[in-house]
Amino acid sequence: MNTKYVFITGGVVSSLGKGIIAASLAKLLQARGLKVTIQKFDPYLNIDPGTLNPYEHGECYVTEDGAETDLDLGHYERFLGVYTSQANNVTTGKIYNTVISKEREGAYLGKTVQIVPHITDEIKRRMLLLGKTGNYDVILTEIGGTVGDMESQPFIEAVRQLQWELPEEDCMSIHLTLVPFLNAAKELKTKPTQHSVQMLQQGGVQPDVIICRTEYSLSDDLRRKIALFCNVKPGHVIQSIDAWSIYQVPLNMHDEHLDELVVRKLQIDNYRQPDLKEWCRFLENLRNPEKELTVALIGKYVSLQDAYKSIQEAITHAGAAYRFKVDVRSILSDDITEDNVAELLAGVSGVLVAPGFGERGLEGKIRAIRYVRENNIPFLGICLGMQMCVVEFARNVLGFKDAATAEVNPESSHLVIDMMEDQKKTTIKGGTMRLGAYECELLENTLAHRIYGRDIIVERHRHRYEFNASYKDDFEKAGMVCSGRNPQTGLTEIVELPQNSFFVGSQFHPEYKSTPERPHPLFVSFVKAAADFESKTGK
Ligand code: GLN
Repeated sequence: MNTKYVFITGGVVSSLGKGIIAASLAKLLQARGLKVTIQKFDPYLNIDPGTLNPYEHGECYVTEDGAETDLDLGHYERFLGVYTSQANNVTTGKIYNTVISKEREGAYLGKTVQIVPHITDEIKRRMLLLGKTGNYDVILTEIGGTVGDMESQPFIEAVRQLQWELPEEDCMSIHLTLVPFLNAAKELKTKPTQHSVQMLQQGGVQPDVIICRTEYSLSDDLRRKIALFCNVKPGHVIQSIDAWSIYQVPLNMHDEHLDELVVRKLQIDNYRQPDLKEWCRFLENLRNPEKELTVALIGKYVSLQDAYKSIQEAITHAGAAYRFKVDVRSILSDDITEDNVAELLAGVSGVLVAPGFGERGLEGKIRAIRYVRENNIPFLGICLGMQMCVVEFARNVLGFKDAATAEVNPESSHLVIDMMEDQKKTTIKGGTMRLGAYECELLENTLAHRIYGRDIIVERHRHRYEFNASYKDDFEKAGMVCSGRNPQTGLTEIVELPQNSFFVGSQFHPEYKSTPERPHPLFVSFVKAAADFESKTGK
C-alpha cells in the first residue's frame, strides 16, 4: 500500500489540543494494525525550539537522534510508543534556511525565489519525506498555529497543492475548532467554527472532517448545522468533549468513529478492529488509584504547566503502574531558603529536581537537595538536578565550599561540573549541546543496575556541562557512587548515594522515554521509593 496522508489544522483559538487529537487518531490507526507516524510543521522562524524559552513554548522535547523539538512530539511518542526524529518536526525557519542556502548555491538558476512556489515546494517536499521511506501506511501532519495566521498561509497552501496533486483516496484534511458555550444564552455557538472553516476554504482547503472541542455534548441538530454550513458530510462532525485525562481521548475519538471515517476515506482495507488492551489497562489503573502520595517538583519554570511536560507525564505513568495517584507539588526553586525548606517540603514523600539552564534558582535547588539528602527523602535529580546534587555533595560533604558548575561560576576553584574541552570552542547556542541518545554502562551491584536490570542502557541527553572526572575519587571515597558511565568517553551519567534509600541523579533525561504502556524504570522506582517513604513515615 502506498502511504496515505492526513493533515490536521486548527482554528478559532490556539491550545485546543491538536497534538493530542493527532496522537489519538494515530494511536487508533496503530491499534488497527497500521504503521503510523506523526509530524509537526511549526510556523515560526526559529530553526528549532531548542532556543525558545520554556515559558513561551513549554518544554523542548529531545528525540533519539538529538533533535530539539516541539513538546507535541513528546505526546506522539508517548501515545504511539515509537520514536520520532529530526524529520518529524519542521519549522518555517528550517524551510527558509534550506531555500536560502539553495539560492546561495545558485540552485534556482537565476529565477526569482518566491514563497510560491519555492517555499511551498520545500514544505511539500518535507511533508512527503517520511512517506518516501516506505515505512508508513499513514502519516499524520499537524500544522501548528491557527488558520488565518499570516505565518500559517504557506503551509495551508502546501496542503491545498498536495490535495490537488495526490489521488483523492491518498489524503484528507481534518480541522479542529472550538464550539464555545455561552453561559448567558445557555447555548453552544457554531459561528466561530463556520468562520474558521470559511477561512480554510478561502485557502482552497475543504476539510473532510471537523472535530469540535466542546464542554458539552453536541446535539444531532447542531452537528447537522455545522456539517451543512461547513460543507462536510453529516456524520463527519465529531465532538471532542473535555476528557478527564489526555489518555482517554483515543477512546473518545473511537466512540465518535473518527478512525473508521479515516480508514474509509483513505480506502484502507488491511485494518483490524483496534486492539487497545494495554492502553485500557493503563487507563483503568490511572482511574482507580488505591493510594495517594505527594512528590515535589523543584524547578524555575514551574508556573507554566507545560514547561516540564514529559516529567509530569512520566510521574503519571509510573504512578499508574502501582495504582498510586501521585500529586505533584511544584516548588519554584528561587523561593527556597534555609528558613523555609522544611516547611516547603513538609508532607512530600519524594523530591525531583528538574533540568534547567542558568543561575536563577540554583542555590534554592542546592538547599533543597541538602535537606532531602540529610533526611533520606527519595530523590531524583535530572540533568541540572543531577549536577546540583553533585555540587551540594561537594560543598557540604567534601567541604569544597565554593564548589560550582562552570555554567554559573567559572572562577570557582572546585569546578565539579565543567565543560568538556571540545565544547569550549563553541560560541553558538543553537544545537550545540550533547544531544540525543547515548549509551550508558551500569555498574554492577548499584541501585541503577537493579532498577534497569541490565548492563547497558540508552538514554537521551541535552546539556553542555558534565561531571568533572578529576573529582571522581573524592566523591567515591566520601560515598557518592558513579553508577553509570558512557562506555565510549567514560563520562559519568548517573550518581547515587547507597547510604540513602533512594538518591539518584541522572545526567540524561529519562522522562523523554516514558510511555503509559512502558513507564520508565527510574520513575517507577522513584515513585515506589516515595510510597515506601510515605508508609514508613506516615507523611
Ligand atoms: N544547564 C545544564 C547544562 O547545560 C543542564 C542542562 C539541563 O538540565 N538540560 O549542562
